[in-house]
Amino acid sequence: MDITELSVDGYEKVVRCRDKDSGLHALIAVHDTTLGPALGGMRMLPYASEDEALIDVLRLSRGMTYKSAVADTGLGGGKSVIIGDPAIKPEALFLAMGRFVDSLGGSYITAEDMNIRIADLEVVQQETRWVTGLAREAGSSGNPSPYTAYGCLVGIEATLQEAFGSPDCKGRTVLIQGIGAVGGRLAEYLSKRGAEVIICDINEERVNTMIQEHGFRSVHDEGHEAVPCDVYAPCARGATLNDVTIPKLACKVVAGCANNQLAEARHGQMLKDRGILYAPDYVINAGGIINVAVEMLPGGYDESTAMERIESIRHNLAQVFEIARTEDVPTHDAADLLAERRLEVGRAAKA
Ligand code: NAD
Repeated sequence: MDITELSVDGYEKVVRCRDKDSGLHALIAVHDTTLGPALGGMRMLPYASEDEALIDVLRLSRGMTYKSAVADTGLGGGKSVIIGDPAIKPEALFLAMGRFVDSLGGSYITAEDMNIRIADLEVVQQETRWVTGLAREAGSSGNPSPYTAYGCLVGIEATLQEAFGSPDCKGRTVLIQGIGAVGGRLAEYLSKRGAEVIICDINEERVNTMIQEHGFRSVHDEGHEAVPCDVYAPCARGATLNDVTIPKLACKVVAGCANNQLAEARHGQMLKDRGILYAPDYVINAGGIINVAVEMLPGGYDESTAMERIESIRHNLAQVFEIARTEDVPTHDAADLLAERRLEVGRAAKA
């Protein structure tokens, strides 16, 4: 196994692994461990080149540092990518990946991400203990989606508080794009709290099931962003807040779980200019990472501790909104400022 360190400014450690026997070609980026070991998922994609994979792993690992800093998980940010076709997954590849992760001695802790399943991580775990998010039966934190959904609910309440002066969901209309693992559970939570839920998904079967089970109103995906509502919750995919959709939005608040909702950073300013309050995606969708981080506590994973800690999303968003108000910046910039301030405090404490 050939492990080479790449020098990248602003990153603590970036390493490449090439392993002839298993065919593994992978990168791990440890962006920052000021606040704790660098936790971040492992993804597998048929990147066109190593450079493309490097850009991805650098961007994602930095994002994890910010996400964990705001979520106050006591973790830093890292990520790993396997360059390869996810349709071909020999066990030897994941055993080699396990040895690669292990070579960092715990400064990087891995988890599930795109095209990686729990079964793959169970193979990785044969070679390293630095794996999180395995099955609950194995003493791990299990599927993060319900926790992300609960965090999103808490985040919607915090955003309503800022926009309307009350966190109460009762009587509020919430439009959810994407009623999958997270969005579906969020719809149920909101409905129980008295919100009027409107759903939208390209999966018709799923929509019909949710209508039958809960009586939700549904709208077609095309043009859904123009449907009048108090809260628009993007819970499907990224880049849905863009030049085309933002002018059409008929909501007061955008607060959903999808990653990378802003097509470009300038779209955060566009939302601000339209008087729409945006709950930054990486702050409101941190329920999953907060849940996983509980595995790292001395007593190990405990669900009630996780649920208590997820409540902190309320406080974290309130802080983001306060920074945005007092410094007159878009909320996504305010979130980055909050992360940087927490990192500065961490660095000062270590110095
Ligand atoms: P999922 O695949 O279970 O659900 C996504 C849903 O969106 C599906 O029902 C799909 O049919 C629908 N969809 C896809 N494209 C659509 C479109 N154009 N219009 C309407 N609906 C569409 O995924 P998930 O786990 O619920 O995650 C949803 C989002 O939240 C993703 O962006 C994910 O990265 C992000 N996220 C998830 C977690 C988690 O814990 N699962 C954590 C953080 C962020």
